[in-house]
Amino acid sequence: MKALIIEDSQTGLAVISQHLERMGILPIAATDGESGIAAFRAHNPDIVLLDVVLPGIDGYEVARRIRAIEQSGEWTPILFLTARTADTDLVQGITAGGDDYLFKPVSEVVLAAKVRAMQRILQMRYSLVVLTRKLDAANQELTRLSSLDGLTGLANRRQLDETIMREWRRAARYKRPIALALVDVDNFKQYNDTYGHIAGDECLKNVANALLAVSRRPSDLVARYGGEEFALVLPETDLGGARRVAEGLCDSIRALGIEHRAVPGGTLTISVGVASTTPGQEGGGPQSLLAEADFALYSAKSGGRDRVGFKVPEVAVE
Ligand code: GH3
Ligand code: MG
Ligand code: MG
Ligand code: MG
Repeated sequence: MKALIIEDSQTGLAVISQHLERMGILPIAATDGESGIAAFRAHNPDIVLLDVVLPGIDGYEVARRIRAIEQSGEWTPILFLTARTADTDLVQGITAGGDDYLFKPVSEVVLAAKVRAMQRILQMRYSLVVLTRKLDAANQELTRLSSLDGLTGLANRRQLDETIMREWRRAARYKRPIALALVDVDNFKQYNDTYGHIAGDECLKNVANALLAVSRRPSDLVARYGGEEFALVLPETDLGGARRVAEGLCDSIRALGIEHRAVPGGTLTISVGVASTTPGQEGGGPQSLLAEADFALYSAKSGGRDRVGFKVPEVAVE
């Protein structure tokens, strides 16, 4: 522990330094305010013993400047050294940022007791800082987890909703296309019935990883929509691009070769519905895009599964 003593009287300095050394505290001395502040910056002491009457700037001003130097959250105890005993002096010292007073001539036992009291406060503060840091880390982790799906580790529905909203606004602002792909595992109820729910969960994890591997752009989001359904938000993607991504998804799941003996093909597949639009100025939300992708998914299912569904754009008839 280091203590900075700012005191212009050489005898006062020597006496207090001896007291501190006997307490196992390293004294650092300064004999005026400016050099005291420089020593504070240079040595970063654990406590400051500050004379009130100094040549140049007085102790109150030194205290104010030390408080201004400290970063937010930092605190170094300041004990004023004074021969004055008026109530107003004490108030002035506390107002300037001091924490306590020591009356001259400084008694060794009182100095030791007050230093110990400040050490105790410092220790408590330190514990609080450590605790706050742990809390911050825990909060960050909670925020991260609250946006993830527990089974697959993909973005969850909440993050999906937030991302769709954000990307939709961006697309509207820059008049850019945005696409959505809804993925549904084919005949998954039968998969569970055949292999059990635990195998079903494993299967969903594998599907999730494969979907993630296919989406390549950093701005693409792969999320678990719910149950055995997934969604991909594809910013800057028109219908053609979305169809290609969706074909890639179907291919990669088929390529996983997950056995599904209850279905004719013998392999697990997915169906995907895609939709793309450039949000207009009307201010409508992304619900229409979701509805269109959902409808496209339905058509992929009714068209025989293991395929991509999309709404054929209306062509102007001449
Ligand atoms: P379709 O091809 O028409 O999509 O048929 P399907 O059987 O996949 O569709 P359905 O909606 O009838 O069944 C979905 C099944 O997905 C039923 C449900 O038990 C299962 N499922 C949903 N979430 C989970 C999950 O987290 N784990 C497991 N193991 N199964 C799930
Ligand atoms: Mg003095
Ligand atoms: Mg489903
Ligand atoms: Mg399904």
